[in-house]
Amino acid sequence: MVHQDNVLRAITDDGAFRVIAADTTATVRGALAAQKPEALELVRTFADLLTGAILVRESMAPDNRLQAILQGDDPRSRMIADTHPDGATRGLVQLPASTKTMPLGERGLLQVARTLHNGQLHQGVVEVPHGTPTISSAFMAYMQESEQVVTVMAVGCHLAAGEVVAAGGYMVQLLPEVAEGPLMVMTERLKDFEDIVPLLARGAASPEALLAETLYGMPHTKVGDRTVRFGCHCSPERLAGSLASLPRADIESLMEGGKTLEIQCDYCRKNYEFTIDQLRNLIEPAN
Ligand SMILES: [Zn+2]
Repeated sequence: MVHQDNVLRAITDDGAFRVIAADTTATVRGALAAQKPEALELVRTFADLLTGAILVRESMAPDNRLQAILQGDDPRSRMIADTHPDGATRGLVQLPASTKTMPLGERGLLQVARTLHNGQLHQGVVEVPHGTPTISSAFMAYMQESEQVVTVMAVGCHLAAGEVVAAGGYMVQLLPEVAEGPLMVMTERLKDFEDIVPLLARGAASPEALLAETLYGMPHTKVGDRTVRFGCHCSPERLAGSLASLPRADIESLMEGGKTLEIQCDYCRKNYEFTIDQLRNLIEPAN
């Protein structure tokens, strides 16, 4: 059976907390198969970035697109997670040639950009917390500093023999106008789940199980269940649009040799072809 990822959300009946829990196993597998980062540390970081982006979108922008960009200590190294309201989520790993790792602990940055209902962007940048270069803490810092929502969050990925066995995470949010008291109780409780990789390894980190664990004993109501998947919105039209934005000289150099141009989508590795006539039309629009 094909694994289907989903995201569950619930609100406690006292109105104090919102919990969002995600299974991102298949999404992460798909994105990894397209990007193929080699080092296991990169695999984990990429998986966590994708899961974190999905959780933040489900929390702050469920009906809009969200991108999370992680920049390493070397500013030429970065990863992108790009997640859409229909659940389609893709990612990109960009490292300088001959580099296999992406240290984050010194000058790493997490930038999040999400589309607002009016079409404008909400953007925030936080430093990846020093000493604990984990993606969970970077996203928590973003939620606190840029969204002003008190959030406890954990994302993780369990690997065996280099393969993703399970990936997922949860976020618990204190809803506005609630005293900090309940949060302290909740924070204490969540100390047991700060690292969810052991739960993932035991097969005990389905969204249902994460909801049950984080909200143990608290009456709550499930308010949503949505699917997520690996997916890319690239198309011949979109690629032609990007090509058309290149300087004319660049397009002309692509036409040298008179051969059909083959281009691969950086995100999903799908191949596209542009004939010489199609390329010519980009610089000499048909009239
Ligand atoms: Zn694509």
